[in-house]
Amino acid sequence: MKLPEEVKFIISALRGRGFAAYAVGGCVRDSLLGLAPHDWDIATEAAPAAMREVFAGFPLLDTGERFGTLTLLLGKKPFELTTFRRESRYSDARHPDGVVFHDSLREDLSRRDFTVNALAFCEEEGLIDPFGGQKDLQNRLIRCVGRPEKRFGEDPLRILRAARFAFSLGFTIEPETRATMSRQKHLLSSLTAERVRDELCALLTKNKLNRPYLEIADLLRVLIPGLDECFSCPQDGGKPGFSVGEHLLAGVNQAEPLLPLRLAMLLHDVGKPRCPHNENGGFPGHAEISAAMAREILRGLKFPRSLSELAEQLILYHHAELPPQPPVLRKLLSQTGEENTRLLFAVREADLRAQRPPSPPPASLTEAGRVLRQILKDGDCFSAERLAINGDDLLGLGFAQGPRLGRLLAHLLGLVLENPELNSKERLLALAREEINH
Ligand code: ATP
Ligand code: MG
Repeated sequence: MKLPEEVKFIISALRGRGFAAYAVGGCVRDSLLGLAPHDWDIATEAAPAAMREVFAGFPLLDTGERFGTLTLLLGKKPFELTTFRRESRYSDARHPDGVVFHDSLREDLSRRDFTVNALAFCEEEGLIDPFGGQKDLQNRLIRCVGRPEKRFGEDPLRILRAARFAFSLGFTIEPETRATMSRQKHLLSSLTAERVRDELCALLTKNKLNRPYLEIADLLRVLIPGLDECFSCPQDGGKPGFSVGEHLLAGVNQAEPLLPLRLAMLLHDVGKPRCPHNENGGFPGHAEISAAMAREILRGLKFPRSLSELAEQLILYHHAELPPQPPVLRKLLSQTGEENTRLLFAVREADLRAQRPPSPPPASLTEAGRVLRQILKDGDCFSAERLAINGDDLLGLGFAQGPRLGRLLAHLLGLVLENPELNSKERLLALAREEINH
């Protein structure tokens, strides 16, 4: 295993002063998997005060000194340095120092969640793997360090972390660990919204093999208010066999791994169980009810307002017509912007693919997608900023500053959305003059 120069420097600086130090956790796991770690954590015997002495003159930030963590900046890159838990050092004070260090590391590793995360490495001692993490890495298994029941009881977030690592790494969860997750899933409701939110974001966007979210339906049904009922509501009105819940989770898999899109798919029909269904199997009004529920759910999970509003809009309009007429699509672009228009198409397509059996997209939707791509390729104007004239040009015509000026620009934009060829300075100025003389 190869450590980056900065980590070698940190470890040897600490060791040079007599403090054991190791790269630890996710960075060791990722390196052994041949992945590039996104950050390097160092566990050391040095307490924060000693870290300050060893790295005097370097920027050291207090990112959790109370828990023994300082962040060292080397060439602007952050490295987290955390002191081993100390208990064993005091209780084991009779042992020689070397053993005390080693015991402290073992103690530190034993507090970590999964065997593949409980690995440490330094060049002097090589890999330190007291819980069989390397073997589990080879077998691509997520397994608790110690008894799952105890570990999930200590911190139920580990239930979600297990699912998150399994999905992001493409690993299997060891059977006893998995069975315990399901048995203890009720503990998830005791977690703070922020911790759940962060794991949920990772789960929804980092899914190496695009594994079906149905695999973790048991957990999601506890986390997402309203989802549980969806599993006893048939997706096609009266027809049993395929539930709204299954359709929602299939929809997440069918969408690109972009957070707003996947959140929208997760919740786009969550209101169906609260709607009456008609004789065609439809649920009139479900988009509105689902959008309102999504707002509550996402606010409850402390998602940023901009994200929850976007998901809400995508849900509200997930059945809106997307016709192939260029003026209609330019109007949609002008109202919702390019990015959100693309997302709206993506929601519609994922929704169709997530039916059972998958519904082929209607010809008009395929055509609308083609027209949209053409509009974007041609660079058609669909916003006031892209109009060939601006407010100053109108003032130059002798037009007075004020709300009428804004209205005239909006009117001109409306004409250009209908007919992009009007978007030249000459033609728009001529049209503006006509309006003024009107
Ligand atoms: P990622 O690639 O997502 O950062 P990571 O393994 O580095 O993965 P972090 O959340 O950054 O995960 O945590 C760093 C390490 O701290 C983990 O590898 C694990 O050893 C330990 N850890 C983090 N959270 C917990 C927890 N809730 N319970 C036990 N150990 C934890
Ligand atoms: Mg990490």
